[in-house]
Amino acid sequence: MRDAPPPAWRDTRTPVRLGISACLLGEKVRYDGDHNRDPLAVETIGRRVEWVPVCPEMEIGMRAPRPPIRLERRENQAGFRLIEPGSQTDLTERMRRWARGRLAALAKEGICGFILKRNSPSCGLRRVKAFHPDDRPAGSGRGLFAEALLRAFPRLPVEENERLWDPEARGQWVARVFACHRLRLLWRSAWRKEDLAAFHAAHELELWARSPRAWRALGALPAFPGRRSRASLRRAYEEGFLDAMARPATRGRRAAALRRGFGAIAAGLDPAARRELAAAVEAFRRGEIPFLAPAALLRHYARLAGIESLAEQTFLNPDPREAAIRGWT
Ligand code: SF4
Repeated sequence: MRDAPPPAWRDTRTPVRLGISACLLGEKVRYDGDHNRDPLAVETIGRRVEWVPVCPEMEIGMRAPRPPIRLERRENQAGFRLIEPGSQTDLTERMRRWARGRLAALAKEGICGFILKRNSPSCGLRRVKAFHPDDRPAGSGRGLFAEALLRAFPRLPVEENERLWDPEARGQWVARVFACHRLRLLWRSAWRKEDLAAFHAAHELELWARSPRAWRALGALPAFPGRRSRASLRRAYEEGFLDAMARPATRGRRAAALRRGFGAIAAGLDPAARRELAAAVEAFRRGEIPFLAPAALLRHYARLAGIESLAEQTFLNPDPREAAIRGWT
């Protein structure tokens, strides 16, 4: 008998599309005519995804090189303005108008994440320095494009390039990116409620590591499709799933998810295997070994026990591209 083909959302060849500040790819679009090539983005991540580069300042018609711009707080005006201090040109409305059109186009590109250049008045996500017109510091804020991006796509995994050098932050971000990608693949297929239920089951530990409550609530959705239209079921599941994935999977929560998986096979394991697995989960919880060690062990024992639904959890067996970006391969 032939094995059933893997579901469409398990496909690991469909490109994962990500937006990125173009200067991070080495494009000479910076105000001084240079670039901000980020080797992690270009090499580690770039080899596994398809980029959609965006340079807001070039795309609103500025040139490289160009005079620098900055965030300014101005009297009687709410929020920060995007100002070219040399000429006192206010670029705020131009940037906002362009962003509306560009973001509508990005929605059609099917991106599942975005990497933004840190500290830019257009692209910076956090703590971009702001000034008063007389050059006094005026606190900090978010770049205007970053602001518009988050408003248009509140559930999109967006991160700054420098933060992704931290393996923990990168792991959290890339898990969200690939979860979003898998969900897109599911929606693109001729899915039925059984497919949504299978998708949810395969993400059990992934969701458990973030929010057991969300796992339970989302699991109830495919069971009652008759009460809502297909579009409304899709919307409710997508919002709940992406919101749950945005919660941090702390070390303690990940250990709890591993223990849940362990509990599903513990009865069938011999005492030595039980001790080995329990010790590995505990060592991970204490920060003594990386996640990969107990995850590989749990997967191994799930396979031996013939429990494929556990061995194939996305939490234990991610897309090879996700594993490579995490540094697991
Ligand atoms: S930070 Fe953003 S606006 Fe500035 S050069 Fe890079 S892509 Fe362009």
